Amino acid sequence: MDKKTLLAFVVIILLLVGCSSKGNKVHVCISSGAERYHYDEDCSGFNHCTHERREVTLSEAKAMGYTVCRME
Ligand SMILES: [Zn+2]
Repeated sequence: MDKKTLLAFVVIILLLVGCSSKGNKVHVCISSGAERYHYDEDCSGFNHCTHERREVTLSEAKAMGYTVCRME
C-alpha cells in the first residue's frame, strides 16, 4: 500500500466516524406538552404532534428535557 492509498483510507475512516456521530438524529415536537423524542418519524406518538416538528441530535433532545418514546 502506498502513501496515497493509505491517506485515502484515513480520510474515508474519518468521514465515517464523523457521519456516525452526527447521524444520531431524533424527532421532537416543539410544544409545552411534548416530552418524548422519537427515533421514528412515522411513530404514532410523533404524529400526534400538532405543533412544530424538529429534527435534533439525541444529545440536544436530552438537553431539552425530552425522554425516549416508548411507543416504538
Ligand atoms: Zn415515538
